[in-house]
Amino acid sequence: MKIKKQIISKKEHSVSRDAISNNALKVLYRLKDAGYQAYLVGGGVRDLLLGEKPKDFDVATDAHPEEVKSLFRNCRLIGRRFRLAHILYGRDVIEVATFRGPHEGKSPSHADQNKEGRIIRDNVFGSLEEDALRRDFSINALYYNIRDDSIVDFTSGMNDLNQKMLRMIGDVEVRYREDPVRMLRAVRFAAKLDFQMDRQTHDLIFELKNLLEDIPVARLFDETIKLFQGGYGLRCFQLLREYQLFGLLFPMTEASINNPESKGQTLKIIEQALKNTDERIASGKSVNPAFFMAVLLWYPMHEYKNRFIERGEHEMEALLSASREVITRQQAYTSIPKRFSLMMREIWHMQPQLQHPTRKRAMRTLMNRRFRAGYDFLLLRNSISDAKFDVLCDWWTEIQTKDKAVQESMCEQLGRGQKTPKRRSKRRRSKVSKQNNSDSKSISHSASQK
Ligand code: ATP
Ligand code: MG
Repeated sequence: MKIKKQIISKKEHSVSRDAISNNALKVLYRLKDAGYQAYLVGGGVRDLLLGEKPKDFDVATDAHPEEVKSLFRNCRLIGRRFRLAHILYGRDVIEVATFRGPHEGKSPSHADQNKEGRIIRDNVFGSLEEDALRRDFSINALYYNIRDDSIVDFTSGMNDLNQKMLRMIGDVEVRYREDPVRMLRAVRFAAKLDFQMDRQTHDLIFELKNLLEDIPVARLFDETIKLFQGGYGLRCFQLLREYQLFGLLFPMTEASINNPESKGQTLKIIEQALKNTDERIASGKSVNPAFFMAVLLWYPMHEYKNRFIERGEHEMEALLSASREVITRQQAYTSIPKRFSLMMREIWHMQPQLQHPTRKRAMRTLMNRRFRAGYDFLLLRNSISDAKFDVLCDWWTEIQTKDKAVQESMCEQLGRGQKTPKRRSKRRRSKVSKQNNSDSKSISHSASQK
């Protein structure tokens, strides 16, 4: 690759110091004042040039991790495969990476690759130029120099940015082999920025995608969250499927999407959930990864549940077994941290309780600490199934707005209508149903819906 260093002066670009976070500036100044080189790099520079608000700020320097640590009291050194310094300001983290260099001739304790070419250790330090060539895409290798506010570009990143082009730096096959997660990153940036991939960056994904099978499942989970909860989840999902990558991460979900018996429901619920997620993020609301994982695996879980029922298990028992089964199987592809898998199960297990509220149980369901997530899940299911649960959803929506006494009476009425109709005299039953508002009647009716 021909390398041409370009320096874009302060006057020729749109990044201003005002747009950089105070914490990132503090880090850059302190490194500079201690005599080190200090640059803002990666998504911070890229997004500012595109007029977007960066998600975080990454810094590159010639100071070694220990030297960085000695400059900042609030510094933690992290990572084995790739040693980094994190400077912590409360919840805000500025990542400081020492310039990386080529691996040739270095000892395996600093630089190591497996037989497929995957980098398993990357702690060889180098120059600014070498660092640029080890980054993934040209648009991610633009360096904002705190000394004179210029931008340094070794990879024609500025040109690619203007062309809306996502281009892997260097020999694309080698770079994908070094780190197959770059394929997922390519999809994520293409979706987020609405950029085209250049020919090779695009084509080689189809050839090399199976290399993702060797990536540690915890890293794949992290990347999955970035893909689906980064504000552009729906587009990422569509692109992942186009590139045949989704099935490598979620094979049971992909199979369910393609199963004619799913009647399009699997795809519908995922797309609807991602649309909602993207909207929530756009309006500054929080999102929970467990909720979306519960969506992804809901129909696959059902398929297992039906199998368990065929084998003679009762409905609830089958639901519990299927939840366990599906989560265990998924963990071979992406890990699911325990706090999330617990919540996924709670959301699933609450669905029959929400669908068939009874006098005895409804109050307990309402008090469940996961009620809100379970209820949102029911609303989501309703929104993709021709408003099948409309009456139920209204009932649960209403009960949340009432005080305890009214809630209890709503549950009470529910019980009367449902549980013991046979034991009641005709006269009493008609009295009860007159007393009850229409909700309890509709609940009895809708509770029989599946
Ligand atoms: P965002 O933070 O918006 O997701 P980003 O480009 O800043 O995007 P980070 O994961 O924060 O992405 O990484 C910061 C920078 O580090 C990248 O821009 C890129 O230059 C480099 N980088 C990150 N991951 C890799 C990788 N797997 N291979 C090569 N370079 C990488
Ligand atoms: Mg970043």
